[in-house]
Amino acid sequence: MTDAFPNPALGEPFLLTPGPLTTALSVKEAMLKDWGSWDDDFRAMTRALRDRLLALCGPGANHYDCVPIQGSGSYCVEAMLGSFVPRNGKVLVLANGAYGLRAAKTLEYLGRACHLLDKGDYLPPRGAEVADILAADPAITHVLAIHCETSSGILNPIEEIAEVTHAAGRKFLIDSMSAFGALPLDPIALNCTAFVSSANKCIEGVPGFGFVIARKDEIASAKGNSHSLALDVHAQWDTMEKTGQWRFTPPTHTVAAFMKALDLHEAEGGAPGRLARYTRNRDVMVEGMRALGFETLLADRWLSPIIVTFFCPADPAFRFQAFYDAMKARGFIIYPGKLTVVDSFRVGCIGRMDDDIMRRVVAAAGEALTEMGVASAAPPASALEERRKLAA
Ligand SMILES: *Cc1c(COP(=O)(O)O)cnc(C)c1O
Repeated sequence: MTDAFPNPALGEPFLLTPGPLTTALSVKEAMLKDWGSWDDDFRAMTRALRDRLLALCGPGANHYDCVPIQGSGSYCVEAMLGSFVPRNGKVLVLANGAYGLRAAKTLEYLGRACHLLDKGDYLPPRGAEVADILAADPAITHVLAIHCETSSGILNPIEEIAEVTHAAGRKFLIDSMSAFGALPLDPIALNCTAFVSSANKCIEGVPGFGFVIARKDEIASAKGNSHSLALDVHAQWDTMEKTGQWRFTPPTHTVAAFMKALDLHEAEGGAPGRLARYTRNRDVMVEGMRALGFETLLADRWLSPIIVTFFCPADPAFRFQAFYDAMKARGFIIYPGKLTVVDSFRVGCIGRMDDDIMRRVVAAAGEALTEMGVASAAPPASALEERRKLAA
């Protein structure tokens, strides 16, 4: 009962954001207990955490292991890059938004060579162009793809990228932060060296740690690669294997909450169940917003069930801040857009919310437009022109 949608016990707004996101009451309640990090009970919890995350990769993933890392998702991206890319390695970063660019920036800090394929705000990197780059530059050792680029909400074509990467004999790394736990990710089929995700995205936990899932042989040979003590995946793994403990203070309450979140994930039918709910959330929300006159940045083919970017209306009565405030007053926190060319905003589909709540989101958006005196939610012609570039 306590986890019903909407959560009746709290007069809090729903977070239509891609993490931190709205969590179940029972997930929050799981944080009411203190844990000793060295204690057997917490060690058992860490063991179960790793096993359960690995189990989400399918039954054949026994040559992979899961290494949790303290911090936010970016800490895990940095840990993965610093640990699996040797100092003389070179990474092809496939960017179409803020998270791809952040990964390239991370490599710059780490002093690892990087070839950046920057597709701009949202165009997807395609297999053929990746194959061309790999053929032209034999120094590239790894390819990094962003699974769902959360800044536009595009679902990138990781299967075709995986295929050409494998065919070219290079290693494949994935930032699946906002996708793992909902969208299918089979590291074996993708020939993936390592991928990362974090506690506060599709598993619907609270922030505080992320995790690297990597081939065991790659973890073993990552010894000595890392630029960083705290972000050394091999060292964290080695300590966890030997002692069952995290090397430094673990986010105990966050881990306890995450175990509860994993229970709810399992009860919902695992990733397929969650994907079904997020997809319904998206479909109901997008259909309703389109009926109000809003337009999505992306054509349906590229829309993820994670977060959706809408163009801001051209009507001069529309101002994002007023729209945001009107939505918040109705119990919904939306997200500003991240496009550089046109004004936009984003609405997340993930977190402890269902399609009934999405219908209320649409109703609130309609009321907000009326309150602002916006006659039409149609975007400016320049926005639609921008979208036409996304043919194919
Ligand atoms: C959330 C997210 C990250 C990590 O962001 P943090 O703010 O460090 O948690 C990285 N990549 C993607 C695609 C994300 O959605």
